Amino acid sequence: MTERGVTIWFTGLSGAGKTTIAEQLVQIARDRGRNVEMLDGDVVRTNLSKGLGFSKEDRDINIRRIGFVCNLLARNGVIAVASAISPYRAIRDEVRATHDDFVEVYVRCSIEKLTERDVKGLYAKALSGEIKNFTGVSDPYEEPLTPEVLLDSETETEEESLAKLVAKLEELGHLPPA
Ligand code: ADP
Repeated sequence: MTERGVTIWFTGLSGAGKTTIAEQLVQIARDRGRNVEMLDGDVVRTNLSKGLGFSKEDRDINIRRIGFVCNLLARNGVIAVASAISPYRAIRDEVRATHDDFVEVYVRCSIEKLTERDVKGLYAKALSGEIKNFTGVSDPYEEPLTPEVLLDSETETEEESLAKLVAKLEELGHLPPA
């Protein structure tokens, strides 16, 4: 019998920690014998969504595409892990509605902290106006109202955030115990 698939959807501002936690989750799920696939927003924009920009329309198309692929995987027993800013609540909810099993993981961090962290040097450019339509600075981000999991990378260490997520997924029956 095929194991139950699920989409685990990471949302949050750039640099909040989505990919960091998602990649570790993928490894854990694999170690526990599950089929896993990851769709990273930055990677998808270089292939499946190549050519799309950062207008609301293009962002929505990008998220719908990622959601579509995740659903194909999840309904075939795969744990599909999506890591994308996905700033608009309505589109995230639209993707959720196509799924039987969907777990939204909000990786929260304040703009102040992200600017200080500035892992990819993007906040400095966004604040100086060199990059336009930057989520959280000059473009909207609509926080999830009731995410299944809330990780706060401002106050938690990576290890704490990951442990919290793994515990919740075990509790929901989406991850076999170690
Ligand atoms: P995103 O995928 O959201 O753009 P990244 O995962 O690329 O973000 O970068 C997040 C950065 O924040 C990494 O440098 C990571 O080490 C750091 N970080 C600090 N605390 C945490 C935490 N609790 N969870 C995830 N990342 C964290």
